[in-house]
Amino acid sequence: MKGENLDLSSDGLPGDGDSTSAPRRFLGIQFDCCGVYTRVYVNRQETAYEGNCPRCGRVVRLSIGPGGTSSRFFNVS
Ligand SMILES: [Zn+2]
Repeated sequence: MKGENLDLSSDGLPGDGDSTSAPRRFLGIQFDCCGVYTRVYVNRQETAYEGNCPRCGRVVRLSIGPGGTSSRFFNVS
């Protein structure tokens, strides 16, 4: 199955040598500030999803709590 779109074209994660491991988890984020949709990826510690608005650089950080969240998509406003 090729349902997963691996986005390997973007800036690459520095120091990420373990390319053989499972794909990094991500969330889809709608940035209301600029009306754009993008992905944010889980950080190395897997404690949060972190990313930036591709247009204005606004930082988004979504903590991954115990039990987590069932939602995979968020709006940032
Ligand atoms: Zn923005």
